[in-house]
Amino acid sequence: MAGPKSVDSRRQPPSEVDVLVVGAGFSGLYALYRLRELGRTAHVIESAGDVGGVWYWNRYPGARCDIESIEYCYSFSEEVVQEWNWSERYAAQPEILRYINFVADKFDLRSGITFDTTVTSAAFDEDSSTWTVETDRGDRIRTRHLVMASGQLSVAQLPDIPGLRDFAGEFYHTGNWPHEPVDFSGKRVGVIGTGSSGIQVSPQIAKQAAELFVFQRTPHFAMPARNAPLDPDFLADLKTRYAEYREEARNSPGGTHRYQGPKSALEVSEDELVETLERYWEKGGPDILAAYRDILRDREANERVAEFVRGKIRSLVRDPEVAERLVPKGYPFGTKRLILEIDYYDMYNRDNVHLVDTLSAPIEEVTPRGVRTSEREYELDSLVLATGFDALTGALFKIDIRGVGGASLKEKWAAGPRTYLGLSTAGFPNLFFIAGPGSPSALSNMLVSIEQHVEWVTDHIEYLFKNGLTRSEAVLEKEDSWVEHVNEVANETLYPVANSWYLGANVPGKPRVFMLYVGGFHRYRKICDEVAANGYEGFVLS
Ligand code: FAD
Ligand code: NAP
Repeated sequence: MAGPKSVDSRRQPPSEVDVLVVGAGFSGLYALYRLRELGRTAHVIESAGDVGGVWYWNRYPGARCDIESIEYCYSFSEEVVQEWNWSERYAAQPEILRYINFVADKFDLRSGITFDTTVTSAAFDEDSSTWTVETDRGDRIRTRHLVMASGQLSVAQLPDIPGLRDFAGEFYHTGNWPHEPVDFSGKRVGVIGTGSSGIQVSPQIAKQAAELFVFQRTPHFAMPARNAPLDPDFLADLKTRYAEYREEARNSPGGTHRYQGPKSALEVSEDELVETLERYWEKGGPDILAAYRDILRDREANERVAEFVRGKIRSLVRDPEVAERLVPKGYPFGTKRLILEIDYYDMYNRDNVHLVDTLSAPIEEVTPRGVRTSEREYELDSLVLATGFDALTGALFKIDIRGVGGASLKEKWAAGPRTYLGLSTAGFPNLFFIAGPGSPSALSNMLVSIEQHVEWVTDHIEYLFKNGLTRSEAVLEKEDSWVEHVNEVANETLYPVANSWYLGANVPGKPRVFMLYVGGFHRYRKICDEVAANGYEGFVLS
C-alpha cells in the first residue's frame, strides 16, 4: 500500500477548475468519477498520502466495518459490483482499503487528485461567483463550485487530560494509526476509550500485550458481530440482482436490509420478548434496534431491550464485579452508536486484561510513566487513545471558509450547524456538503448516503452549467425550517438523551445540537428528489 508521497511526486493542482472537491475518501472519489462522467473539469485535494479517507487513517488492528460488506460498498458501477468479491460479513480495514484502491485504479482517479495537501481556506467572490481555495502547499485554485467531501469522522479528538504530551512511552490515536504494524508484545498497554474504536482495538492488543489496561468512562452497548466468511454461491447469486438489492436499501430508513418489527416492546410477554431478542443476538449485528418499533422512541420499551442485553453482557464475563462495571446504565440502548464486538467481552476473562473504571476513579493526568487516576498510577509502555473524533463539523472548521460579505462558516455555525437538507448553507453559494450535518449521514449506511448526496450535488451542478447559471444559494427561511424539522424528528426519539458524538457531547465546549437527520434515509431521499424536481425549490439560482 502506498505510504505518504515525497514532495516531488505531488501532483500540481490546476489553477482553475469547474468543481474542486476536498477529500479522497468514498465521497470524494465518487464525486470525481461522476463529475468527469458529466464532462466537467474537477480536481480533488487530499491531506493524506493516498486514497481511502477513514480507511486510510484508521489502520488500527481490529478495524472493520459495522455495516455488512455487501451493503457498505459502491453500487454505481456494475463492473465494480461484478468484479469485486468481499471475503467476510464485516470486512476488515485492509480489505476495504484494497477495495477503494481497486476503484481508484479502475477509473484512473489518482490522476485527478493532489495528495499530501491540505485545504486551509476558501473564499467566495461575489463578482465572479467563484471560490478561491488555498492550501498549505501554497496552491491557489479558482473554482465555480466547492464540494466538501472532507469527512464526518476525519479529525481525531484528543482528550482534555492534563499531561497528555508528557507521556514518555509510545503514543497512538486509533484515527491516525501508523502504516507499519505496531508490536505490543511484552508491553504494558493502556487504551483510553470504549466506543467502536476502543472495543475493536482492545481484544487485538490483549492477544499481544503483557498487560492491557482499558480505561472506561462510559460503558457502551455492544452486540456480537458474528463475523464469518461469505459464501461464494451467495455472492454469485447476489450479483445477479444487486441493483434491485441496493434499491431495496435505498427505500429503507437506514439504507440497509434491516426490517422494522411492527410490534411495541411493551405489548409482548417476557417470553416472547426474550425469544425474539435471542434470535437477534444469535444472528449478531445491529438489527436488534429494529426488533420493536418503539426501541428508540419510548424509554420503557427501550429499557426492556436494554435489560436483555445487560443480561447477556453479565453472562459473558466471568468476574461478576468486572461484568457489572461493563454493563451500560443511565442512557437508552442504541442512542450511542451500537457497537459490534468480536472477542471484546471475552477478553475480560484473560488474566492480562484489566478494566479501569474511570467513572468511579476519574483519570486525573497522564504522567511521563503512565496514567494516574484518583486511585493510583498505572505504569505503561504504550498509550492508545480511542477517544473519537471532532465529528461532522471538525474538518469544516479547520478550513477558514468565508462566504458572502466575508462571513465565516465557523461563526455562522457557532451555536451548531445550520443547513438546508444537509447539502448547503445560506450565505455560502456554490458550496456543497457530502453526508454532513443535517443529513442522515452516520445514522444510515454511509455508502448509500454518499452515493445519494454525490448524485444529487453533481446533478445540481450539471443543471446549473446546462442552464447558464453561475450561482446557487440556499434560502435562509428554507434552511431554518429544515433545522427545525431535523430537531423535531430527533426530539421524537431517545437519541438526544445520550451524551454522544451525534450531538457534539464528546468535544468540550462544542454546542449540544443533534446534528443528524433521524427521519430515515428513504424519506430524506424523497425530499431531496422533490426539491430537484421542483426546479431546486429553496435555492436561489442566478
Ligand atoms: P472520509 O472517509 O472521512 O474522507 C474525508 C477525507 O477528507 C479524509 O481523507 C481527509 O484526510 C480529507 N480531508 C479533510 N479535511 C481536509 C482538508 N482541509 N484538506 C484536504 N483533505 C481533507 N460508516 C458506515 O456506514 N459503516 C461503517 O461500517 C463505518 N465504519 C467506520 C469505521 C471507522 C473507523 C470510522 C472512523 C468511520 C466509519 N464509518 C462507517 C463512517 C465513515 O465516516 C463513512 O463510512 C465513510 O468512510 C466516509 O467517507 P467520506 O469520503 O465521506 O469521508
Ligand atoms: P467514540 O464513540 O466517540 O468513543 C470515544 C471513547 O473515548 C468513549 O468511550 C469516550 O467516553 C472516551 N473518551 C473520550 N474522551 C475521554 C476523556 N477525556 N476521558 C476518558 N474517556 C474519554 O469514538 P470512536 O470509538 O472512535 O467511534 C466514533 C465513531 O466512528 C463510531 O460511533 C462509529 O460511527 C465510527 N466507527 C465505526 C467503527 C466500526 O465498527 N465500523 C469503528 C470505529 C469507529 P465517553 O463515552 O464517556 O464519552
